[in-house]
Amino acid sequence: MSRAKVFKLIMQSQRKTRSSKVIPVVNSEESKPTLDLSQFKSKPKKTLPSSVIKQQIKKEEGDIDIESKPSTSKTAKAEQVVTKKEKIIENKPSTSKTTKTKREHIKVEYDEEVTGTSPKKISKSMPNNWEKVLENLRQMRKNFDAPVDTMGCDKCSDDAASPEVIRYQALLSLMLSSQTKDQVTHAAMLRLREHGCTVDNILATSDEDLGKLIIPVGFWKSKVKYIKKTTEILKQQYNGDVPRTVEDLCKLSGVGPKMAHLCMKTAWGQITGIGVDTHVHRISNRLGWVNSKTPEETRKALEGWLPFDLWSEVNHLLVGFGQQVCLPIKPQCLSCLNRDLCPYGKKIKK
Ligand code: SF4
Repeated sequence: MSRAKVFKLIMQSQRKTRSSKVIPVVNSEESKPTLDLSQFKSKPKKTLPSSVIKQQIKKEEGDIDIESKPSTSKTAKAEQVVTKKEKIIENKPSTSKTTKTKREHIKVEYDEEVTGTSPKKISKSMPNNWEKVLENLRQMRKNFDAPVDTMGCDKCSDDAASPEVIRYQALLSLMLSSQTKDQVTHAAMLRLREHGCTVDNILATSDEDLGKLIIPVGFWKSKVKYIKKTTEILKQQYNGDVPRTVEDLCKLSGVGPKMAHLCMKTAWGQITGIGVDTHVHRISNRLGWVNSKTPEETRKALEGWLPFDLWSEVNHLLVGFGQQVCLPIKPQCLSCLNRDLCPYGKKIKK
């Protein structure tokens, strides 16, 4: 084939290829592609009620709490951070006047141990009418005829004994008085005194004999062990005397804060705290003076507002009042002078 013929064939082939491509020609308005703008219109946002948002946040927090193990997933970590941010944002005080809500008063308490004779006040918030309530308590207790007045722990020591022995007997009577009526404690102390209630004599007494002497005080078996252990410590570390600080007293077997503060008052004549037993705890809560779950919480709350010069009196007043009027079961609210001031008494039908 000649070169000219080859060239002709190539040109024919290229022409065929070009003619097979179709180029659309737009001639009319109808054929123009139309753009649907509606799809770009912003859709109205769905606003969830704040309660639902809070529930969602709570649920998220709960989920995190349940899975206490730290997640290794980056996504999970990011979600946690977002949740925290949301929470922080929600807790920020709103600057808008319309959404501003009244903040709940939060009482800040300091767990400050009382060590001196003039401790600092922790809080100034006092319950309403507390002075009137106290005056009524004094009025109802004016005869001083409750068991605590004649057979309380401060009435159990032998006044004729040496100061060290008086202090030791004061401590023992407090140890026996836990979960025990004053009458039973007082009778047990009289038997111990007759037996010889000194550090050396109690150490020389067998556990069995000591048990027989103190029965029927509550938990007498445990108390025998505590008394023996504590008496050994007094002999070895305190030259047979009673420690002179709340801290050292609390280190003794079977001695807690309540007992330590009462011992400081009875044995050493120092007021270091309010002795809160079951009566003081119960009545303080009924009167609305405190809102606490344990006697120790009650002690701290009372010491937060009650003037220091009343700390000694209030224990004695309330213990006797609890023995005679504000009984654990069926308190005699109808005859109580505080009935109209006491939240518990107000509920009792007249
Ligand atoms: S009104 Fe009743 S509960 Fe209140 S202090 Fe008096 S006896 Fe106790």
